Amino acid sequence: MTGQERSEEKSECVSLSPMREAVPAPPECERVCVFGTGDLGRSLGLRLLQAGYGVVFGSRRPHRSSSLIPHGAQVLGHAAAAQSAHLIFIAVQREHYDFLVPLANQLKGKLLVDLSNNLRKNQYPEANAEYLQSLVPGAEVVKGFNTLSAWSLQNGPSDANRQVYICGESVEAKQAVMAVATKLGFSALDRGFLSVARELEDFPLQLFPQWRLPLHIATGLSAAFVFYLLIRDIIYAYVTQGKDISFRIIVSLANKVCPIVSLIMLSLCYLPGVLASFLQLYRGTKYRRFPDWLDRWMLCRKQLGLLALGFAFLHVLYTLIIPIRYYVRFKATERTVSVIRENRTTEFDTTAAWRGDSYLSLGILGFSLYVLLGITSLPSVSNVLSWREFSFIQSKLGHLTLLLCTAHTYLYGWNKFLSSSTYKWYTPPGYMLCLVIPSVVLLLKLLLITPCVDRTITRIRQGWERGADQRNPKDSQPLIP
Ligand code: NAP
Repeated sequence: MTGQERSEEKSECVSLSPMREAVPAPPECERVCVFGTGDLGRSLGLRLLQAGYGVVFGSRRPHRSSSLIPHGAQVLGHAAAAQSAHLIFIAVQREHYDFLVPLANQLKGKLLVDLSNNLRKNQYPEANAEYLQSLVPGAEVVKGFNTLSAWSLQNGPSDANRQVYICGESVEAKQAVMAVATKLGFSALDRGFLSVARELEDFPLQLFPQWRLPLHIATGLSAAFVFYLLIRDIIYAYVTQGKDISFRIIVSLANKVCPIVSLIMLSLCYLPGVLASFLQLYRGTKYRRFPDWLDRWMLCRKQLGLLALGFAFLHVLYTLIIPIRYYVRFKATERTVSVIRENRTTEFDTTAAWRGDSYLSLGILGFSLYVLLGITSLPSVSNVLSWREFSFIQSKLGHLTLLLCTAHTYLYGWNKFLSSSTYKWYTPPGYMLCLVIPSVVLLLKLLLITPCVDRTITRIRQGWERGADQRNPKDSQPLIP
């Protein structure tokens, strides 16, 4: 350490950046150190200064870096900077961590915060924070702040980016880092020991992990039904009647696929819950893990529901444009003209009116509840609901939504279920196929809410186990005779 650096170290909490004006820091300021004057180091340094900390940067070339660092900060060589503060943020890429080895003496007893991330998952055999701890065993390493970007640090915490995750071996060290995070305006969450560091380092690399399965299901279902309806509607008309109705692909076919996929996906939101209840009934206990596939399925129900809502929304939009379509207007005019030409009169069909109005009304009610389910699944809304309110909306109203949408589809089919002409090439229409899963879910749910089954499942959820009394008779004896 040079003599100049030593004298800088002893100085008060004022800016010693040689190129800039000295900015006095608050008198009670606590000094923290940031190694690295890159994007993250500079943004973090700025926020620390704004929060009232004295900031000392550690850099390979302090003189060159002095023009980069924020006003009010000081920049020194690594060794001198390390000695000036107890808490040191390491804002350097992991590949360069060996520069810390010769600093082992200066870093002894210091608290190092590892901010590093990787380019891909499992890039290194151990987590960066664990690697850092192995390089500097005399220091206390805490992982944290790595889920924030340099940009968000500069702009201040917004609602979406307020969370800071911390992990490390020492409770005191973690509390010290959490105190800094809180002072910077973040809410810090202790995620446990340093072994969790790899998980925290994988956070920024995640690509919609919970959306992947629902997106695959939505894409698979859409592709399958587009193919199915293309054959049944368009190709069938061409082969059997020589009619080219390929223009119907754009709106009519899309308006068939969207509600079909929407209804199936909505029912897939409720099917795992029903299956889980039957599994618990069969096992007679809730203390056994569900199979992994069921766990995974249950965890992505929200995403399944939101995608289902998206398809329902498209169905509504496609339905609203029906009256302005050229094909529909042409057909309506043609029908009217032919009725006039042939001097025919048509009777008003009350049954058809009832059917049409009920079909539309059920669709509107179902869609309104659908939107309510979507809104209440947003974290900002669900956070203000009690558990009972949330479960009432998502479970009770959710099943009611499924019932309304299923009834809407049954009414669409009406008497076509029994007509042989509906089954072109012996295949059922798409809307009939899509009724299978919702009907099964609703039937199973109906079974579950019958009083005797409901009583058993409620007991199981309260901790009762079938056969437990016989297995351990002492457990069933009353504590007070
Ligand atoms: P950067 O812009 O590349 O800066 C890294 C700094 O490390 C450099 O400015 C340099 O500072 C120092 N450095 C470079 N080579 C070195 C070496 N051989 N020995 C010692 N120090 C060296 O990187 P960054 O974007 O600030 O990211 C820093 C760390 O934070 C990375 O591990 C990154 O994964 C993590 N991170 C970044 C962000 C972000 O938004 N940028 C977000 C979360 C986490 P000096 O020239 O002053 O020595």
